[in-house]
Amino acid sequence: MPFKAIVVLGFVISSVFWYYRMPLWTYGVLFATALIDVVLYFVMGNVLHCYRCQAQYRGVPGLESHGGFDLETHEKHRQQKFRLAEAAQHRATENSATGK
Ligand SMILES: [Zn+2]
Repeated sequence: MPFKAIVVLGFVISSVFWYYRMPLWTYGVLFATALIDVVLYFVMGNVLHCYRCQAQYRGVPGLESHGGFDLETHEKHRQQKFRLAEAAQHRATENSATGK
């Protein structure tokens, strides 16, 4: 997640400048990190991200035929993963209690 790291780094560094009352450096860091983010947005291109296994595909033919990111579908798969892990843990606990 390098994109999030850039945002967090910009926030931390600009906060330090803000603490020392250096507003020009504060805004300079924020604009610089925003500029880096914009440049990466145009350089990196689109990515196809699997909701289930988190696989990422770049530069494959037919990439544009897939729909955009859907938060509802993402959340459905994310919660299903947790429910399956919880059910497996519950089964393991039951099996150890009954001696299976
Ligand atoms: Zn997958």
